[in-house]
Amino acid sequence: MALRKILTHPHPVLREQAAKITGFNAELRQLAKDMADTMYEEQGVGLAGNQIGIARQIAVIDISTQDNEKKYLVLINPVISEGEGCESGKEGCLSVLEYDAKVERFKKIRVTGQDVEGKQLDFIAEDRFARIIQHEVDHLHGTLFIDRISRLKQDMYKRKLKKLLENK
Ligand SMILES: [Zn+2]
Repeated sequence: MALRKILTHPHPVLREQAAKITGFNAELRQLAKDMADTMYEEQGVGLAGNQIGIARQIAVIDISTQDNEKKYLVLINPVISEGEGCESGKEGCLSVLEYDAKVERFKKIRVTGQDVEGKQLDFIAEDRFARIIQHEVDHLHGTLFIDRISRLKQDMYKRKLKKLLENK
């Protein structure tokens, strides 16, 4: 098990547009495995390449339905090709220290992309699963959930983070 270090806001790699992946090989499979191990170690529900300093279009998403289960989906080059409905729900992020906020997302989405072997994916996701995918796809485009909250809340978080970093 190889754990990767999770980078936190305001690290610049979190603002990068992740590059499309074209090589489906052992190195990619190892990266996906390391990302899943890291996600579970940190008790996250999703992790994108940017968050470990690798600006490539890969994300892992927890799809376990029971406690102690470690079932995850690897999404390569994911695209949200359709979205419908709108729902507000709480989000946090392993790269955004000590903060969560309500964010509006599509309730139902269609996702296309590839799996870790390069096989084409095309599926519908709803509710919590759809929310996590939208959050991770955002990461791959350099967007954080705090970009999607009100200016007032952003300013409040900025002050909180400043204090947090000063006391470190
Ligand atoms: Zn995140």
